[in-house]
Amino acid sequence: MNSRVKRLAVAALATATATLGLTVANPAPASAAMTICYNTSQAPSYAGIANQAASIWKNATNNLTLTANCGTNLRIYQITGGGSYAQRTSLGNGRVYIDTQQAAQYSPLRIMTHEIGHILGLPDNYNGNCAILMSGGSAGTSCTNPYPSTAEANRVTSLFAGTLSAGERSSSTGSQVFKDSWPALLTVG
Ligand SMILES: [Zn+2]
Repeated sequence: MNSRVKRLAVAALATATATLGLTVANPAPASAAMTICYNTSQAPSYAGIANQAASIWKNATNNLTLTANCGTNLRIYQITGGGSYAQRTSLGNGRVYIDTQQAAQYSPLRIMTHEIGHILGLPDNYNGNCAILMSGGSAGTSCTNPYPSTAEANRVTSLFAGTLSAGERSSSTGSQVFKDSWPALLTVG
């Protein structure tokens, strides 16, 4: 093809790619599974942990698939000190930072599934209950449970299915940084 046609084809491909990226940011009610692409190139020590966390979230929900290195909805980083945290830019999109020092104290898989939980629309819930994934560090270093509760998993499914009220959706899907999750003071509520 001549160079002009080739440029047009490249532009069309870029547009198609951008459109695909928006399907997660603005999920429409649908029964088909939506794919969140995560990238572990900046967290080589935790790539295996991220894969396990992806399987846990896929199995716990009925409309989500998390796939490694097919795109960059979710970038995972490893840092040293300062605390693990999540930076959600929109539902299903953002960055997760795993603090290697905290991951040596707390279960790294629980940290990973918890921080991804923020990207999937869940807030912190520091009630000290190890059965609650979003209780995070409040459940102590002995808590290694990496699974969301049924209620937590169902909320994520509902968020991606678009079945919650607009008010509930807007409080769970916007840009937000979830800092200081690990460790956390024990609080109730
Ligand atoms: Zn948290």
